[in-house]
Formats: sequence, structure tokens, C-alpha cells
Amino acid sequence: MCGIVGYIGHKEAYPILVGGLRRLEYRGYDSAGVSVLHNGNIQTFKCKGKVSGLEALVSGAGVPEGTVGIGHTRWATHGPPNDVNAHPHTSGDGQLVMIHNGIIENYGTLREELTARGHQFNSDTDTEVLIHLIEDIRRNADVSIFEAVRIALNEVVGAYAIVVMDRNTPNQLIAAKKGSPLVVGIGREGDYYIASDATPIVEYTKNVVYLEEEEIAIVDVEEGFKLMDIKNRERTPYVQELELKLEALEKGGFEHFMLKEIYEQPRSVLDSMRGRLRPDVGRVELGGIRDYIKRFVHAKRIIILGCGTSWHAGLVGEYLFEDLARIPVEVEYASEFRYRNPVITEEDVVIAISQSGETADTLAAIELAKSKGATIIGICNVIGSSIPRATHAGSYTHAGPEIGVASTKAFTAQVTVLTLMALHVAREKGSITESRFHRLLIDLDAIPDKVERVLEKNEQIKFIADYYKNVSNALYLGRGYNFPVALEGALKLKEISYIHAEGYPAAEMKHGPIALIDEEMPVFFIAPRGGAYEKIVSNIQEVKARKGKIIAIVTEGEKQVKSMADHTIEIPDTDECLMPLLTVIPLQLLSYHVAVMRGCNVDQPRNLAKSVTVE
Ligand code: GLU
Repeated sequence: MCGIVGYIGHKEAYPILVGGLRRLEYRGYDSAGVSVLHNGNIQTFKCKGKVSGLEALVSGAGVPEGTVGIGHTRWATHGPPNDVNAHPHTSGDGQLVMIHNGIIENYGTLREELTARGHQFNSDTDTEVLIHLIEDIRRNADVSIFEAVRIALNEVVGAYAIVVMDRNTPNQLIAAKKGSPLVVGIGREGDYYIASDATPIVEYTKNVVYLEEEEIAIVDVEEGFKLMDIKNRERTPYVQELELKLEALEKGGFEHFMLKEIYEQPRSVLDSMRGRLRPDVGRVELGGIRDYIKRFVHAKRIIILGCGTSWHAGLVGEYLFEDLARIPVEVEYASEFRYRNPVITEEDVVIAISQSGETADTLAAIELAKSKGATIIGICNVIGSSIPRATHAGSYTHAGPEIGVASTKAFTAQVTVLTLMALHVAREKGSITESRFHRLLIDLDAIPDKVERVLEKNEQIKFIADYYKNVSNALYLGRGYNFPVALEGALKLKEISYIHAEGYPAAEMKHGPIALIDEEMPVFFIAPRGGAYEKIVSNIQEVKARKGKIIAIVTEGEKQVKSMADHTIEIPDTDECLMPLLTVIPLQLLSYHVAVMRGCNVDQPRNLAKSVTVE
């Protein structure tokens, strides 16, 4: 996590850096800092807390002048979030400053060695150790700053995206990447923009280079852009054109990004299907996996990897692929999968799901599965990110930038793409009847309008949120396709309103959680009509008998549950396998309103960061 930004050119650096940090703040907000170089002096400002705190600090002291600088917004891994641990970190001699995203795993040994050689450290961070190592190499070997960075990176175990600024080389910034993302924007006026993702760059230039593993970029206002690797080999930069639009990064009149993103779902679901769903000709076309469709058809097993909300989408994927394509599926937390010596064969197809495309555990799990010969398919949102580049093939979700830390539109886009994939494979495999296939295409095509209709329930959902905003616990229950939605609903409430919530398969309630139920406990039932409807009605009775509060998501026109529940939210009907795309929406809105009413920071919940680029 952490957001990093750098600028070198002819414009004033500070406004560019601080604007970039605001865009990257979704990646971490434990502290913020900038360093600007001017006339041989480096001015550093840094403090605990948000970018707004940094801006206040700088405006009190006077905006630093200079056309070269670096900035950082931190999600702490090593050392508490405080002023001293904030980046940029400075070398002992004050000549070098550095920002870092990632973890230097061997920082303990390096710190001991450097301490023995006389280095003194101010902070608890792993980052400070690396900048001292670079200083140490430069001092002893009398080499250029690039060469010192290169040698140091050969000694490092772990992950990094770094930018180093040297007081003695004011025309240059050195940037390097391994395991954490980094992109360099090539400006029109011989200037360069460096950042963790393209969001701080898009308003200045569309031409970008995404750094590959172990590459080091030397950006020089006099000599231009040069790409090397840590083995000192020159690399050819691949300059891409950004498709990102500036408006997509603004709140567009909404109070929070999360609310904007919830409301974008009719469009984002449509964008995930655009050009892929063809009910007119009775086809699903997923160009990204076309060459690998036979691997799916002959797969002995599908393994779906994800973390957090992506893992929940993966669970929906399990139901879809087993139901429609009749292929056994296992859904794995990437972090567990990679460390437990899993059995993987060449006949396995692995689907890796990640909004950011940078999730460190998912990336590592992909490498493991790849080394065993499995076919790897990605489902990611951020174009050009690391996971799509590490997989054999895949499909982007095309949900547009998701800035709110709690994922909403990324989930529905992932489920939409999984649905299209399962349908595509089922059709190719012949495991689905002609009539069901066609019906599902038509039903899927109608989903964006139905999402719109669920959003019209906002005022009613707000009323329910007001009713339950002060609870300390909540239970979410669903069956079949709606069990993953129960998990996702509980996660949304936990992450933004800090209310303890649990998701369970409704039938499992009797095996434990039922003991929690009393008149204080709200139980959210996801109970649309479908296969397990009668069963879930019985589960609702069981909660009612124990005086729990019942809030149920039901199909329009439903009467039975309505007569038992304290509150019901009606949603349009659709095929059971498409239900998660509708049932999740009221739960997103509910969590949003509860969090706002409790005064929580919805877009930047405590302790969290958007993309988890550390293990
Ligand atoms: N390890 C560094 C720190 O704690 C960077 C953390 C990160 O990238 O999330 O400051």
C-alpha cells in the first residue's frame, strides 16, 4: 500500500505532488510527506495523518519552491503511524531522500550491519534502512546515485516501489520497482511524473511506462528517460497511452466516493458486459479468454483465488461454474493457498480476482500456480496492473476507477464477468441447455435496469439504517448464491462502520450463531424467491422465535416473509444465479448510511487501505 509520487521538470513541484497525494490517499493515510529540492537544498515536510494535515503544515511554514520533488502517503507496516516514521526518509548525511511502498524483509540484518558501520537511525521503518544502505554504498564505492541504488537493490529481500532524490544530482530522479506498482508519465515539456498508479498523472500526460519487476528508471530533465534493470542491463521502455478519464476520478456531486460508486453500478455492470453479452445473436464473447477456452472445457478443476471482497465474488463464481459449467471449483484465500503446499496440476485452471490487479498475495499465488503448469486467468479492474501482466489471459471488469476503500462496484463487475465466463464455458462445453442459456442472456441483459430499481429504495434503506445505527453486532444470513452476499454484507458493515458483523449460511446458524440472538440482535436475511426459499423462511421463523430483529431482502410482491420481518426491502425478480448482483446493493447502501450516521470516514476507514500490496 502507500502512495508514492514524484515530479521533475520545469513547473513548481509542490502543487503537483500534493495533488497527486490526494489522488493516492486511498492507498494509505497514516501519514503524508513531501521533499522538494531547490538550489542544492532539500526541504522536507511530513506529519502523521492525512494529506490535509500536511497541507496545513506546509501552508503555515510556506510552500517550498523547486521543480523537483517526491511525496508519500503511508499505510504503516514497520513502526507506528507518527511524524518520525512518515516518509520521505533521509540518509544520514542529508544528501538523499527516498519514498517507498513495500516491505524490506531483511531490514533487520541490514540495520545491524549498518549500525555496526556507524549509521544512526531515527525511525522504526524498514525504508530508512534502505536509504542508509544506498548512502553507504555511494560513500564507499564512489559511484553514481543510479549505481548505488542498483547495488543496494541487489541486497534487498522483499518488495519495493521507490523514488530516490539526490541533492547533488538535481536533474535526476531514480525510480525502481519490485512487487509494488510504479508508473512513469512522460510529459510533453521534457518533464516526468512518477506515481503508484496513473491517477496523479492523467491530468498532465497520457503517455506512461509501467515499470516491470526489478526495473530502474532514470528520469533526467537533461538526458531524458532511461530504463535499466538491477542487473545493469538496458531495457526498452514500452510507452502506453492512458485510457483513464479525469472525470472518473472526481466525486461528481456525491458526498462520498463510495456513494458515487454504488450509484454507478447500473453503468459499471453494463460496461462489464459491453460487447461481450450478445442476446441478439445468442452469444457470449469474452475475447480475453478466447484462446484458452479449450483449457476451461477440459479442466479437471477450477481454483479461484482472491482476498476480501474479491474472494466473496469468487464464491459466487464457484456456484456459477459448478451450476452452469459442471466443473468442480475451489475458492481459496490467496494468502493461505500460497503457503500450504497446494496440489496443482496442468489440468487446473486458476482464476485470480483482484480489483487493483496489485494484491501481493494473489500475485504470489499466481506465480506458484504458474510454476506448476496451471493455466492462469485474471479478472482485474485496473488496466495494465501487475496481475493482468502475470496471467496467461483474462478479462478486465471495466468498472472504472474505484476510489472508495470499501469495494462496491468492483464486486458487481467481478460477479458479472464471472457470470459471462461461466456462461461462455458452459456453452462451449455443452453443459447448459439451449433454452436456459438464452434465458440467462436475456436476464443478464436486464440486470442494469434492475440495479437502478434497487437504488430507488435508497430512502427506505436510509430509514432502516437510522433504526439500527447504534447496534454493536449484526448477523447476515443467506443460502446458495446469496451466502457469499451475506459475507459481503457483513464485511461492508464491519469495514466502514466498525460494527461487529458476521455472515453465515442461514442453515449453519443452528450450529452456533443462534446462541447470539436476543432482542438486541439485527439479523439481515437475504431471502429472495428461489431454490432455498422455503428453507430460509424456516430460518427466519427460528430467529423470530428468539426475538431477534429481522430485516429481509425479498422479491417484489413477497408476502410470507413480510408478515414476519421487522423490515423488508423488495428487489426485482431475476434468475437465482444472477441474484447476487441485486441483493448486494441494499446491503452496500445500508452500510454506507449506517457509517455516515455514526460519523465514520466512509471513504477512508481506519486501518484499511484500498489495494493491499504488502503480504
Ligand atoms: N514499509 C514501509 C513503512 O512502513 C512502507 C509501507 C507500505 O508500503 O505499505 O513505512
